[in-house]
Amino acid sequence: MSRSATYLDYNATAPIRPEAREAVLRAFDLAGNPSSVHASGRKARDLVEAARAQVGDLVGVVAGSVTFVSGGTEADALAIASAKAAGVSRIIVCAGEHDAVVESAAAGGLPILTLPIDGEGVADLAWLEEALKADGRALVCLMLANNETGVIQPVAEASALVRAADGLLHVDAVQAAGKIAIDFTALGADTMALSAHKIGGPQGVGALVSGTRATVVRQQHGGGQERGRRAGTENVAGIAGFGAAAQAAARDLPSMANQGTWRDALAQRVKAVGAVVLGEGAPRLPQTLCLAADGFASQIQVMNLDLAGVMVSAGSACSSGKVKASRVVEAMGRSDLAPFALRVSGGWASTEQDWISCGDAWLAAYSRIGARRREVA
Ligand code: PLP
Repeated sequence: MSRSATYLDYNATAPIRPEAREAVLRAFDLAGNPSSVHASGRKARDLVEAARAQVGDLVGVVAGSVTFVSGGTEADALAIASAKAAGVSRIIVCAGEHDAVVESAAAGGLPILTLPIDGEGVADLAWLEEALKADGRALVCLMLANNETGVIQPVAEASALVRAADGLLHVDAVQAAGKIAIDFTALGADTMALSAHKIGGPQGVGALVSGTRATVVRQQHGGGQERGRRAGTENVAGIAGFGAAAQAAARDLPSMANQGTWRDALAQRVKAVGAVVLGEGAPRLPQTLCLAADGFASQIQVMNLDLAGVMVSAGSACSSGKVKASRVVEAMGRSDLAPFALRVSGGWASTEQDWISCGDAWLAAYSRIGARRREVA
């Protein structure tokens, strides 16, 4: 990525960390299949198992709790399908969940209930407590941090309710990992989804972390890889890169606070001309800013910032190209602002200057477009 460009779209994907890049390249130089018993195979196995321990460390679990998969989407799908196989009869999905969770839950054919969020984007736990009283064991899907707003959910509190009702809790921690400290056990999760490319690892690799109450039931059949939880020769290079990224992300966690300071400075600048910061009253990831300025369409903002060399996202631009109003912002009761939501997200390599450049470009575009709107009126 050119240094003159300003990349503030880490929630879409993070630039690869040098440690991860090196680990990937080293792994490419090995010829072994981790299932082979010869020397090269054993070396490949060692890489996979070292990475398993590194990823486990990031969320405070032993290596055996980590199943490598192809990414956050597969981790979410595997968790939900496994809970269904374990006999849950209904799924409670929080309103702000990623499509990977929403669509995987819908695909399972079980009744789905939507756990509402409040105006700040935080799950309504009183509603959850009531819903859990109904008949039938439930799987609850509650993400740790939202991909658009960065709002952090009260997962440990939700877990207490879920456990009291003998339900299961799946936590999508794809966005939270590497940005805030995560303790799988303290959160009371039964399963947790992680994705390498959101923490500076390669794309196309992720992990499902599972606790003692969960059984991972494989959806992909074939060989006995991943202790029978997911068939198919492991993505050794991707997994090695994931492990290296996880280790570097854990090391860098304290410096994430800087992102919060720089993010808040940008927030002050845009709020001064009337923009709204979504989820500002809730605990949030330090490096995510979701802003909306009435009448300044998301896509216009993205295009204008791009012309100024600043890369950000409109709403949930995961499968980009599609322009649709933010479902998360709508669920927060701010349908009026949904077409105008913009996500700015930094990460491990973002500098204070990146956030300042983003603010400069946004304010310049806002005054240009605003002036044109006034001419039309
Ligand atoms: N869950 C959340 C919260 C995400 O933000 C994303 C990607 O944007 C995913 C899941 C999907 O992860 P992956 O791209 O690794 O499939």
